[in-house]
Amino acid sequence: MAKAFNYYPFFKALESNEGPEAIIDGQRVLMLGSNNYLGLTRHPRVVKAASDAVLRYGTSMTGSRLLNGSTKFHERLEELLAAFFGKEACLTFTTGYQANLGTIAALATRNTAILVDKADHASIYDGCKLSDGEMIRFLHNDMASLDQALAKAVQEKACLIAVDGVYSMGGDLAPLPELIEVARRHQARVMVDDAHGVGVLGPGGRGTAHHFGVEDQTDLIVGTFSKSLASIGGFVAADEDVIEWIRHFARPGLFSASLPPASAVAATTALEVLMEEPELVDRLNANAVIYREGLREAGFDIGDTVTPIVPIVVGDERKMVGFWKELLANGIYTNAVIMPAVPRGQAILRTSCMATHTPEQLKHAVEVMAELGRRHGLIPDAPIPQVS
Ligand code: PMP
Repeated sequence: MAKAFNYYPFFKALESNEGPEAIIDGQRVLMLGSNNYLGLTRHPRVVKAASDAVLRYGTSMTGSRLLNGSTKFHERLEELLAAFFGKEACLTFTTGYQANLGTIAALATRNTAILVDKADHASIYDGCKLSDGEMIRFLHNDMASLDQALAKAVQEKACLIAVDGVYSMGGDLAPLPELIEVARRHQARVMVDDAHGVGVLGPGGRGTAHHFGVEDQTDLIVGTFSKSLASIGGFVAADEDVIEWIRHFARPGLFSASLPPASAVAATTALEVLMEEPELVDRLNANAVIYREGLREAGFDIGDTVTPIVPIVVGDERKMVGFWKELLANGIYTNAVIMPAVPRGQAILRTSCMATHTPEQLKHAVEVMAELGRRHGLIPDAPIPQVS
C-alpha cells in the first residue's frame, strides 16, 4: 500500500540525530518524530558511560543471558529498575519487543486467556501468538467490554490482562484504576507495557501505574530502554517468583544474545540521570502542554492524548502522506502512520515533543503545521468562533 503513494515516507535515513534537531537529506529539521522523550541519547554522562563501556568490555557478549551473556551491568540495571518501580525483581531483554514476547509466552499456558486491548502494541499481540494461551481482544479502553470478555474467559481459564500504559499512537492512557477494579472482580492478573510511560508520567517518571497510584496492584510492569532511557533493550519488573519463572521460560531471552554491555550501561546511566534530575519530566510535560494546546487551538484533531505523544488525525492515507511530505520540506520531521499500526482509513501523523525542545521551537512548529494544515484542508481557514 505504502509504495503506491507518490512519495514513500518510510525508512528515511537520518544523517545526524542530535536530539531536538536532526539532519535528513542534508537538511536540518526539527525532530518531532522520536521517542527520545527526555533527550538523554545525547546527555554527556550517558554518552561517556556507554563509550567507556565499549572500550573496556567490547561491543557484544555474543551469547544469551543463560550461558555467556550475563554481566554485572545487567544485574546492576535490573536491581536499579526493580527499586525504581518498587518491585521485588526485574529481568532485562535485548529489546522491549522481546520483553513482551518473552513475558507473555512464558506466563500464558494452554489454560490461560490473555485479554488484550485492541490498540495494544504489536509486541503484545505477537507475544500472544508465541504463547499457548488464548488471546481475547476487548474494545479500546472500554471496561464494559473487558468485563464481558473476562466473565466468559474466567469460567475455564486463568486470565492475564495485557495493556499499554500509554498508547503509542494515540498518547492516551489505559484507565488503570478502573481496569484493576475489573481485574480484581475476576481474579485476573494485570500486565502494563509502559514503554511510553516511563520517564514521562508519574512521580519521578515512574510511569502510568505510579501516576495512578496503583503500582502495588499492577502485577507486571514491562518497558523498554529505547525511548526515555536512551538506549536499546527491555525489561519486566514483578514479584521475585514471577521473574524467576520468566527468566527460565522466556524463549526470546533464552535463545537470543543479551543486551550489549554498553547498551545496559547507557540505560543505567540514563535512569540515574532521571533519578537525579526528575525536573526533566516536568520540563517534558510543560513542553507537551504548549505543543498539545497549540495544535488544538489551531483546530487540529489530536484525539484524546494527555502525553507528549500527539497524533494529528488525518484519515485518508494519501492526504496524510502529502501533509507529511510538505512538513518535511518545511523543516519539520514527523512520523507517517498507516495500517497495521492504525486501522485502514485512519491514518495519522504521529508527532511527539521532547524535554529538550525549547518552547520557541514548539511554537514555531505549531505555526508551520497550522499554515500547512490550512492549505491541506485539515483545519479551517480561520479559527472557529467561540459560542458564548
Ligand atoms: N511496547 C510499545 C508500546 C512500543 O511502542 C514499543 C516500540 N515502539 C515496544 C513495546 C517495543 O520496544 P523496543 O523498541 O524496545 O523493541
